[in-house]
Amino acid sequence: LPEPMIYADHSATAPLSRAALEAMMPYLSGEFGNPSSAYAPGRRAKRALEQARAAVAEAFGVSPREIYFTSGGTEADNWALRFAARRARTGETAVVTDAAEHHAVLRTAEQLAKEGARVKILGVDSECRVSPDSLRAALSEPAAMVSVMAANNETGTLMPIAELSACAHAAGALFHTDAVQAAGHIPLNGKKLGIDLMSFSAHKFGGPKGVGGLFVRSGLEPEPLIFGGGQERGLRSGTENVAGAVGMAAALAEACREMEKNARRLASLRDELIRGVLAIPGSHLTGSPANRLPGHASFVFERTEGEALLFLLDQRGICVSSGSACSAGSAEPSHVLLAMGIPPELARCALRVTFGPENTPGEVGRILAVLPELISRVRGAYPSAGA
Ligand code: PLP
Repeated sequence: LPEPMIYADHSATAPLSRAALEAMMPYLSGEFGNPSSAYAPGRRAKRALEQARAAVAEAFGVSPREIYFTSGGTEADNWALRFAARRARTGETAVVTDAAEHHAVLRTAEQLAKEGARVKILGVDSECRVSPDSLRAALSEPAAMVSVMAANNETGTLMPIAELSACAHAAGALFHTDAVQAAGHIPLNGKKLGIDLMSFSAHKFGGPKGVGGLFVRSGLEPEPLIFGGGQERGLRSGTENVAGAVGMAAALAEACREMEKNARRLASLRDELIRGVLAIPGSHLTGSPANRLPGHASFVFERTEGEALLFLLDQRGICVSSGSACSAGSAEPSHVLLAMGIPPELARCALRVTFGPENTPGEVGRILAVLPELISRVRGAYPSAGA
């Protein structure tokens, strides 16, 4: 009998939580009003949207007026960086960011540079962290904004956000963080961490896909990215995704309520997996051993081929990835692993296993039971791969 599927790729996307689904159902059926309509169903939709905004704001320790809903993390990152480019004075650097960011940040920074903005890309250390010293050095020249992610999607490494935001502010720059992987998984208080702008995305913490948001500290007014009917206080037009926002709020509230309990469980699954995998010859943990997301384990294997290993795991019903879902299918080594100084041959052999609340110790056992054999098979089939 085939064994049931193991889903351990929560950094790519998490299953929709029951709480989110139940909260959304009315707004996918009877409560279909447009929040801009003045009659009763419209007013009810508007109320649901504003309650969702308040719940999201509460989760991040900020005010509802500082939350703007978007179509997800990518849009929020694009919006934040465009704001930096607009804000930069002539000759000033628009954005200081780092080489391990998600492409939603890096490709936007590249595009802004093509449009004439000055952009600086910092390196990361071998654990995938941006050092406050390297940021301070980069900020010897003025910059409009610093953008460093809260947690890396490929390595799970947590960045020293509070320290980096303090460096940014000391140099007169704003601080944006892509918190897409961190939100709902680790405590994130916008005020306490000194964050000016923060991107988040519902589908990484049990909400639906295609909805997220940008926190923008009050007093800052980014230019709209999308123009139209003037929704989201004129800054993000388009009829609001009411069900999406309601589902996101329910998922985030639940993730925050259960955060400590989940983090303890996930860290124990993660550490058990890491111990088992590191017993396989030629395996290495990537990212920080100590400062990493609770459910996140990532590795490289010598003399293997990443895509072949994923294929074999998939045949056994095990859903994991090589790093970021977005770069899967391309044989290019991960830009994140290269930025950490991992040689290209090894960076092509990455495995990322990311757990969620429904994963069990039994599933970790099943992954560990098949992995050594599958790695040996790949090594046999590709004897010259991954030096
Ligand atoms: N930023 C990071 C760190 C991510 O991991 C992702 C998704 O993989 C995104 C941004 C993009 O978010 P979304 O899928 O909501 O556009």
